[in-house]
Amino acid sequence: MAELSIFEPREVPLGGVRGVRVDRVLPQRDLPTLGAWCFLDQFGPDIAEMVVLPHPHIGLQTVTWPLAGEIRHRDSVGSDVVLRPGQLNLMTAGRGVAHSEVSIGASSLHALQLWVALPGEAAGIDAGFEHHASLPHYRDDGIDALVFMGALGGVESPATTYTPLAGAQIDVTEGTIPLRPDFEYGLLAIDGAVRVDGEELKPGPLLYLGTGRDEVTLAGPARVVLLGGEPFPDDLVMWWNFVGRGHDEIAAARADWEATDTVRFGTVAGHGTDRIPAPELPNLRLKPRRRQR
Ligand code: MN
Repeated sequence: MAELSIFEPREVPLGGVRGVRVDRVLPQRDLPTLGAWCFLDQFGPDIAEMVVLPHPHIGLQTVTWPLAGEIRHRDSVGSDVVLRPGQLNLMTAGRGVAHSEVSIGASSLHALQLWVALPGEAAGIDAGFEHHASLPHYRDDGIDALVFMGALGGVESPATTYTPLAGAQIDVTEGTIPLRPDFEYGLLAIDGAVRVDGEELKPGPLLYLGTGRDEVTLAGPARVVLLGGEPFPDDLVMWWNFVGRGHDEIAAARADWEATDTVRFGTVAGHGTDRIPAPELPNLRLKPRRRQR
């Protein structure tokens, strides 16, 4: 059984009109992926307003998981959906998609924005979008888990996945969660603090559990998010909003977005010509982030 490690988030400016700052939990230098999870930003708590104008993605799925507040999502495959806590937005970028996300309603926003890397054979598929308003629960003594991606304890999310994954929001007093020894897992505390093998996890950092566990006992009371999956085999190039496997693939996606190539990325209705321009590529070839093994 792996030892626990703590990964501290770093505060990053998201840019945009109002300069929202977020906590970036993944990727980390020594943990570029957790299963196929390759990106995790925590917005808030208490973000008054979030406006993310149309921007592109390739090679990944975006997983939007609000904890408080409401988000309007629009994308280039024609979706226009309001997302509320307990519901999942899953957008599969494949070879190219564009979307916008804007907070709405009176309450402030607290949300997780996650990306799942697509395996090589699915990285170039057509874009798609799913909204799941009703998700299944895994329940046991002291545990109530809402399974939003993959599976936990035999309870499976209806969301489409391309690699074996787990993603669940867990309300825990004290209880034990079944795990898969071939998966690696991480925990993020959302509300309250949770004790795991004698370690206390508070909101902020990611607690990495490693592989080789068939269960974990949590002591709250707390709300936590559990992420896991089969360790991802590929070394990925992640640059801006793109996930790929080489420099040229990323540079081509950037050029297509800058050329406002509507064939590849389509159009997000309702924003006129407003969009987020791509940053300049660095003056060197982008290299995959290699995982410490
Ligand atoms: Mn996005």
